[in-house]
Amino acid sequence: MKRVINYAAGPAAIPMEVLEQARDEMLDWNGTGCSVMEVSHRGKEYDALHMGTMDLFREIAGLPSDYHVLFTTGGASTQFLMLPMNYLGAGKEADYVITGNWSKGAVKEAKRYGKISHPANMELEGERFVAIPKQAELNFNPAAEYVHYTSNNTVEGTQWHYIPDVKGKPLVCDMSSDIFSRPLDFTKYSMIYAGAQKNLGPSGVTVVAIKDEFLQKANADLPTMMSYKVFKEKFSMHNTPPCFSIYILNLVLRWLKKNGGLAAMGKINEQKQKLLYTAVDGSGGYYQGLAQPESRSWMNIDFKLPTPELDAKFVTDAKAAGIVQTKGYRTMGGIRLSAYNAVSLKDVETTVQFMQDFKAKNPA
Ligand SMILES: *Cc1c(COP(=O)(O)O)cnc(C)c1O
Repeated sequence: MKRVINYAAGPAAIPMEVLEQARDEMLDWNGTGCSVMEVSHRGKEYDALHMGTMDLFREIAGLPSDYHVLFTTGGASTQFLMLPMNYLGAGKEADYVITGNWSKGAVKEAKRYGKISHPANMELEGERFVAIPKQAELNFNPAAEYVHYTSNNTVEGTQWHYIPDVKGKPLVCDMSSDIFSRPLDFTKYSMIYAGAQKNLGPSGVTVVAIKDEFLQKANADLPTMMSYKVFKEKFSMHNTPPCFSIYILNLVLRWLKKNGGLAAMGKINEQKQKLLYTAVDGSGGYYQGLAQPESRSWMNIDFKLPTPELDAKFVTDAKAAGIVQTKGYRTMGGIRLSAYNAVSLKDVETTVQFMQDFKAKNPA
């Protein structure tokens, strides 16, 4: 067997211990004599897993009991439409900060349901983004029902290093690519959501945490599977939930807690990004970071080499060295290393060594 160092942007690396436990429990989960995929979602074994996972999520986030944890399907992309469906409608408005490709995706859907304004739009020519706006650059619409932003821009390698002050409006955040990567005051948000396949486990489940006060304001007359109120009332079991994805999510959350929770994760991720950006900045211009230094993401490290040919050779040689999925996204080019929680400090140290060796062997 050969395990690689996996910098995939999503679906992404999952902790080895989690995969091993899932393997060990595959044929006989929890004494049921079958896998977790084969038991009734109405049975007591699955129910304990399901409810326990919601509690564990709340515990790790430090959220009080007036936050509901929901498990939805259709990815974060479905939250792009479910959110405005639940809060907008004729004559309603919302604020969306645009900091990257995924913020634009959220706006595209929200526009179907209301008038959308932008406290800031950081797009540059050629669909590029390199910076996060400062608080003073944000201009809010007083008529907005809520303010939405993307905490980490997965494609562009930028990340908010502060929680915006939105003057008392409900704050909603797409945290798909940096959730649980470091401590954060989650109580500042009325709602957060994240597709699980970056920092929380496999695709198939999206975690939503919503404050009761905000939930109460949601539209009630909606198609059943689009209603936050239904998800809350039915504990995300109106229909069959993605049981296996929730099971892996549970194992990842237990792994996270066992390894020191968000404080420990934050320390490791801080060291990882520091090593990688130091390798970029200390290369004498051979590696060039794509994002503005103060907006750099701890999760997605974007940089380029002196030529597109060297970018391509980097990807190929890295793969041969057991370091995979390093190619940047189309709009940004270059290299993207997605160093989510399951990528270890040791993996990053190995990568930094590879970067130094590559530079020595392939002069500009
Ligand atoms: C990956 C990603 C999405 C899309 O997630 P899906 O679960 O594939 O719909 C949305 N927002 C951000 C920030 C992402 O990184």
